[in-house]
Amino acid sequence: MSSEREPVSHFIRTIVQDDLQSGKHPTITTRFPPEPNGYLHVGHAKSICLNFGLAQDFGGQCNLRFDDTNPEKESEEYALSIQEDVRWLGFQWAGEVHWASDYFETLYGYAVELIRSGKAYVCDLTPDEMRDYRGTLTAPGRNSPYHERSVEENLDLFGRMRKGEFADGSKVLRAKIDMASPNINLRDPAIYRIRRAHHIRTGDQWCIYPMYDYTHCISDALEGITHSLCTLEFEDHRPLYDWVLDNITIPCHPRQIEFSRLELQYTLTSKRKLNQLVTDKLVSGWDDPRLPTITGMRRRGYTSEGIREFARRIGISKSDNVIDMAVLEGCIREDMEARVPRVMAVVQPLKVVLTNFEAGLTQSREAGFHPNHPEFGSRDVPIAREIWIEADDFSETPPPGWQRLTPGGEVRLRYSYVIKCDEVVKDVAGEVVELRCSIDHDTLGKNPQGRKVKGVIHWLSAQHALPAEIRLYDRLFTVAAPDSDKDKDFRDFLNPASLSVVQGWVESCVKDVAPETRYQFERLGYFCADRRDHQPGERLVFNRAVGLKDAWSKPVA
Ligand code: ATP
Ligand code: MG
Repeated sequence: MSSEREPVSHFIRTIVQDDLQSGKHPTITTRFPPEPNGYLHVGHAKSICLNFGLAQDFGGQCNLRFDDTNPEKESEEYALSIQEDVRWLGFQWAGEVHWASDYFETLYGYAVELIRSGKAYVCDLTPDEMRDYRGTLTAPGRNSPYHERSVEENLDLFGRMRKGEFADGSKVLRAKIDMASPNINLRDPAIYRIRRAHHIRTGDQWCIYPMYDYTHCISDALEGITHSLCTLEFEDHRPLYDWVLDNITIPCHPRQIEFSRLELQYTLTSKRKLNQLVTDKLVSGWDDPRLPTITGMRRRGYTSEGIREFARRIGISKSDNVIDMAVLEGCIREDMEARVPRVMAVVQPLKVVLTNFEAGLTQSREAGFHPNHPEFGSRDVPIAREIWIEADDFSETPPPGWQRLTPGGEVRLRYSYVIKCDEVVKDVAGEVVELRCSIDHDTLGKNPQGRKVKGVIHWLSAQHALPAEIRLYDRLFTVAAPDSDKDKDFRDFLNPASLSVVQGWVESCVKDVAPETRYQFERLGYFCADRRDHQPGERLVFNRAVGLKDAWSKPVA
């Protein structure tokens, strides 16, 4: 459903349309440029849908390019996970994966060009001195004492930086722009630093690495990117992006356009903080279903179609993009509602003995997997003398309006008979442990005579049901903006009840389903067979992806 919806218009789409119409570009090329220093999260999904989506809609192409200029923090594992996540979301990049490191030699060449034209110099200031010379938001900076080094000296020093003659951090190459610029990014920013770190692709070939701002614009230009879309924190870097491209010999000058970052309430959209949760083992890993990582959402059972629809709905703009979790869950729920089969499961089992149902007998009734999709097929739902119902579908002292089971009351078993509760059995502690009920034999597929039974509950035949581990999730944090309190660590707001694991029961028809198969468990929500732990026919493990109704308005229990 969702992928067929009309794209929502926004200012970037309008710019692209205008550029195509005016003939500025015959076709567009975008890129998604993650740093392989963590797993992607829902904010990245927004950026992926924007970049790949525009390319798709306008018949252009979108590159995947790793911004791998920070060797200490980057890994192959992250790079692989990012590719898997992009593909799972439903996108394919043009050609091979690109890496900023593919351009290291070219980038070096452009740095030499900048030095030759007197636009870059080697600076020996320490980081502290550098900060001091840089000035502040209100005070201009001062020229470095190394600002006037000759081209020859700079060429010599930069060449020796590359050869490894100087210690890490002892020198940087800086662009010579304007130490008095009101934009601090233009106050002679460093464009190369010395760092002896093993790089995931170039190994120990380099001991100098280009800085992000310098690398990014040139990589974009080398790939013929037409529209370089990034988040708003790069707005102040745009003059530097443009300065670099204006001061080297390169035939292409992509246009950088910024949009606001997605922030989701009750969770985090920062790789660094998500990394902390993983490293501190506060979650089970990057794919913990409580995390807003793409792999976490996938494992939880979210569909890529639902996530793409979410990206479509939240739109693209320059204003704050703080979104209620209910919007995301709503998209997931809607997508699954139409697409996944329905079966019954019981997560909090209470035993019911049907006293007038013959012991040893099994009856069964055919039930379709989806009310609106007969093509989904059907299965037999067996009934026998002992069944499981949901403990909270019974109440001894029901609130007004209660339509489920109560002592002396009646309820319909979904797809089956109307039953009446005749007796409540309790243990020594006074806990209800069993109900003894009678069925009205004359209610299969028809209403009982002379009275209305409104409630319908789900249930399972105890002897036919299969045990399953059911994982139920609640919000990860107890506050909407866990990282906005300056005096408190975001980890202090973790919700201790964000995961509960229960032993429940499911219909036997799900016995052999593959991991990642999704179901609606009637009245309980949408569930997904766990990607890691579910073993068909052996160990059934289902995660609740999302409930049937919006639960975000209720306070944390
Ligand atoms: P984080 O702050 O989580 O570490 P990042 O911006 O450092 O994210 P990158 O790997 O550099 O992560 O991001 C790749 C692309 O995804 C960038 O173009 C970035 O602007 C975009 N992006 C990152 N976070 C968000 C977000 N919350 N909303 C929209 N786009 C985002
Ligand atoms: Mg970044």
